Amino acid sequence: MSLSIQIDASSHCQLACPLCPTADGRVRAAQGAGHLKLSDFEALLDRNPQIAHVELSNYGEMFLNPQLAAILKSAHERKVSVSGSNGVNLNFAREDALDAVVRYRVRALTCSIDGATQETYARYRVNGNLERVLGHIDRIRELRRKYRSAFPLLDWQFVVFGHNEHELPVARAMAAERGMELVPRLSWDDGFSPVKDNDLVRIESGLGAASRSEYRERRGAEYTRSICYQLWHAPVLNWNGSMLGCCVNFWGDFGVNVFESGLDAAMLSPKIEYARRMLTGEAAPAEGIPCTTCDQYVALRESGGWLNAEEIQKSSGARFVAGIVLEADPSVRFAQVSIAAGAAGARFENSGRLFRCGVDTAAYFAPAGPGKYTIQARGLGRSGWMPAVSRTIEIAPRPLCQEFSLDVSGSPATPEQGGEVDRLPLWIR
Ligand code: SF4
Repeated sequence: MSLSIQIDASSHCQLACPLCPTADGRVRAAQGAGHLKLSDFEALLDRNPQIAHVELSNYGEMFLNPQLAAILKSAHERKVSVSGSNGVNLNFAREDALDAVVRYRVRALTCSIDGATQETYARYRVNGNLERVLGHIDRIRELRRKYRSAFPLLDWQFVVFGHNEHELPVARAMAAERGMELVPRLSWDDGFSPVKDNDLVRIESGLGAASRSEYRERRGAEYTRSICYQLWHAPVLNWNGSMLGCCVNFWGDFGVNVFESGLDAAMLSPKIEYARRMLTGEAAPAEGIPCTTCDQYVALRESGGWLNAEEIQKSSGARFVAGIVLEADPSVRFAQVSIAAGAAGARFENSGRLFRCGVDTAAYFAPAGPGKYTIQARGLGRSGWMPAVSRTIEIAPRPLCQEFSLDVSGSPATPEQGGEVDRLPLWIR
């Protein structure tokens, strides 16, 4: 039973990125072009209530869908979390859509910004305007403040090329100023504007590799290996419901339309089942199965590094994320925040992560599943550390993205006796 799907809210894009099959017309030729219709989206969710998360970006630009605000609203009403994590260019965004991504708590947006100056940015994002993109990001941040919301999380994706690698440090600083995480990515094609400073990119990418081919040599696996897991757990649909399987494939489909057949039946369709057996090395390549002509499959075949049951299983399951908005009176400049599993009464050291009041958006953690969790925080006021406050929250089974608040200047928590408890990892943006 699939809990996540990915569907392109729009297959259109206004940019002309040199390596993109949307820009050169290959996606349109193979899959047609259009926007996801609100009526199709609602029917999809209503017919397949097991869908808990929808990724709305793929080869197109989701903000070009004129019904995006209504699509986000209908997902929110059904407790379905939504993201634009595959990538958005954010060059165009209607005000109602920007409002909706915050109002309806879109989990995350990955903004594709491969440069820190207009000249560098537009070398790859041809027709793009960096100032407009940053303006839309800043508007989302304003709306987050207006709605006192932790979401969406904003990531700055930076595909590293030879022409932009020198701007990585400036881009990192610009992202940090906006509470964004800079995520350097290796380019799809080593032949286009190849990286010059390999050592810099090896460090900045955090991968010890400056290109996908080097990644393959060093790790013995494809950089994008995990994309194939989508055939099992997070299938990708075209805007019109046809099954594309994964976010790489645009050249063929798997012979089934999820809007017509329903998701469970589509996941058991013969071509998908056959493709899964191909990827685990149990079936030979076959005409009509999109994987057969995919570079990633060819590499798997050459190396014999087939997907195995353990990694496929590990990639399954719903991923929760919770955002804690910390409130405080203006005299409080910092707060230490900790999170532990379990109900109030758990005693844990308040030596947690430092939150900058008025600067950071929220503290986030990834609950293992539904249940009770305790947040504890203490503010740093004019006269030093204030007494700790705490709140026990209950993570519900849905939506996967949930939000809570804690007033750091509120009533102190009753000191608890008891043993140490494990603090959960958290991150602050
Ligand atoms: S082999 Fe290619 S087309 Fe098939 S699932 Fe993997 S990435 Fe997608």
